[in-house]
Amino acid sequence: MNKDIPFNWPYMTGKELYYIAEAHFNGRLAGDGPFTKRCHSWLEKHTGCNKALLTHSCTGALEMAALLLDVQPGDEIIMPSYTFVSTANAFVLRGGIPVFVDIREDTLNLDERLIEGAITSKTRAIVPVHYAGVACEMDTIMAISKRYGLKVVEDAAQGVMATYKTRALGSIGDLGTYSFHETKNVIAGEGGALLVNHPDLVSRAEIIREKGTDRSRFYRGEVDKYTWQEVGSSFLPGELIAAFLWAQLEEARRITQERLASWQRYHDRFESFESIGVLRRPIVPESCQHNAHMYYVLLAPGINRQDVIDELKSNLIYSVFHYVPLHSSPAGIRYGRTHGTLDVTDRKSESLLRLPLWVGISEDQQDKVVDVMKKALKL
Ligand SMILES: *Cc1c(COP(=O)(O)O)cnc(C)c1O
Repeated sequence: MNKDIPFNWPYMTGKELYYIAEAHFNGRLAGDGPFTKRCHSWLEKHTGCNKALLTHSCTGALEMAALLLDVQPGDEIIMPSYTFVSTANAFVLRGGIPVFVDIREDTLNLDERLIEGAITSKTRAIVPVHYAGVACEMDTIMAISKRYGLKVVEDAAQGVMATYKTRALGSIGDLGTYSFHETKNVIAGEGGALLVNHPDLVSRAEIIREKGTDRSRFYRGEVDKYTWQEVGSSFLPGELIAAFLWAQLEEARRITQERLASWQRYHDRFESFESIGVLRRPIVPESCQHNAHMYYVLLAPGINRQDVIDELKSNLIYSVFHYVPLHSSPAGIRYGRTHGTLDVTDRKSESLLRLPLWVGISEDQQDKVVDVMKKALKL
């Protein structure tokens, strides 16, 4: 590798092409073949979900969730503003209205104490987003959903291999969604999964994913022909993607352990920065086992983030920030509404900086990032 320290470096286990060759040899390239089935079983075994279904993306899985919950025009969906666009867009496609609620100071996750105040007669669902693979306060969120008869869709795009009180993220709400995009921990280029936890939703989930037909039942020999049953679309990936993903799932534990080690190295090195008040490090509550999806710091007020990014870049270190909060983006203003103030969202999104983290980043590279951060923060 050259002297650049990229922000992300997709990790390949080495077996991806081998499994793709096997799929090629099998001559079975459409979705739901042997590799897809292996991935489904793995996800069901390792998350404890009722049914796992591979999708072409987490975005697709969220769109399936909105279809499955039968979201109607005007239905309100409670979610954070501090998230990726797909969390909201999937529901807006069905005419739903995202209701943006502020986030917690510590985890930057949906503030569960603000959810009840946002509920109206139009509310249909709550969509907690497990930011950076650190769980939302799911016990409280599930209790609220039960009390008000709401559905819970966990956006666990960043949460593969992370847990809340030992339960896999994505397996706690009625539905959960994973992403296998190349920027996530376990990857397939583009890819995702819908975890169906509520047993009543399983058979419709299969139908919605297969263009609104009961083709899955037909393949299992449960019906003698397949027909159009419901509104649906094509959400499944082909076997080449599933073959690639299988190589990654086999190594998911090791990938997570390696990321955690690099994450911890940053965390130790930045402790002294935090103690003098120039930044704040991520906070992981005791009930959460995270997956080291990202390492971010929150720069203290008065520090110009762009200057820090520029200093890193002039040393060939590539850092990024996100998100532009949805409530202040053009489509968020048009399609959503806010509940209360979003002060924490606004403040955190302006001060957050994500540092390079990937499987294989060396100790030397991380030390260089820390050294340049020292220089950028004039320490
Ligand atoms: C990455 C991400 C998505 C989208 O995942 P895709 O697989 O790219 O569709 C959705 N929500 C969150 C929180 C994400 O981080």
